[in-house]
Amino acid sequence: MAEKIVVVFDFDKTIIDVDSDNWVVDELGFTDLFNQLLPTMPWNSLMDTMMREIHAQGKTIEDVEEVLKRIPIHPRVVPAIKSAYALGCELRIVSDANLFFIETILKHLGLRDYFSEINTNPGYVDEEGRLRISPYHDFTKSPHGCGGLCPPNMCKGLVIERIQASLSKEGNKKIIYLGDGVGDYCPSLKLTEADYVMPRKNFPVWDLISRNPMVIKAEIHEWTDGADLEKVLLQLVETITVEEESNSASAQLFTADCKLQNISTVAVPEALPQALSVRQ
Ligand SMILES: [Mg+2]
Ligand SMILES: [Zn+2]
Repeated sequence: MAEKIVVVFDFDKTIIDVDSDNWVVDELGFTDLFNQLLPTMPWNSLMDTMMREIHAQGKTIEDVEEVLKRIPIHPRVVPAIKSAYALGCELRIVSDANLFFIETILKHLGLRDYFSEINTNPGYVDEEGRLRISPYHDFTKSPHGCGGLCPPNMCKGLVIERIQASLSKEGNKKIIYLGDGVGDYCPSLKLTEADYVMPRKNFPVWDLISRNPMVIKAEIHEWTDGADLEKVLLQLVETITVEEESNSASAQLFTADCKLQNISTVAVPEALPQALSVRQ
């Protein structure tokens, strides 16, 4: 079993095949307003503003849910997640979408209980039925201080550092991190030699990693689509599990060997004449 593996998934364009924010805005017919406002504020603040406009124009939270339930996802992704879970991996999400979108989609796919943790921007429906989206880090009070390419509301590198700190108390766990976007580069840099990173080929995080792979300590395994994600991820889990099992098997063999030597030299040396003759 792969209890020692923690698989950390990005959500947009990794688990689902599109960006959930763009999907909701486009499907509800608010693309023009979104593009018009985009240069004026951070993405995360813009999504909260968009949800206010969408609500003001008479769209209900049920309309938003209906759109989320038909979001495109590759048919092999759900089986891949279920297989990794069945093999004993712990699954988590680190995403710059929001909790309402992610939970609505995961529940619809029957996947919510497969994930032990969802790290994302808070999202809740207020008394008026409007979805409110707030930043993961409150950057108006204190910036997250990451000098990298992370947006002001969320540094996934900080989330990975927190996960690593909590995992270090549970023994030698390995992380497999999957992502596609610019925001997945910072956490990729935080992974260690024991970890694995799965950048989606020809997507921004893959471009950034390919530019200078030497700065990435984790082993790099690219993937293209949902079918490839399933193949590469499950292959990795299997390889790590086999390695672990052979490590623990050889450790047991070593212990057994020592015990045997103790018995032969201390307790009954005469009982092993053939072994003695071989040594001459
Ligand atoms: Mg993404
Ligand atoms: Zn960062």
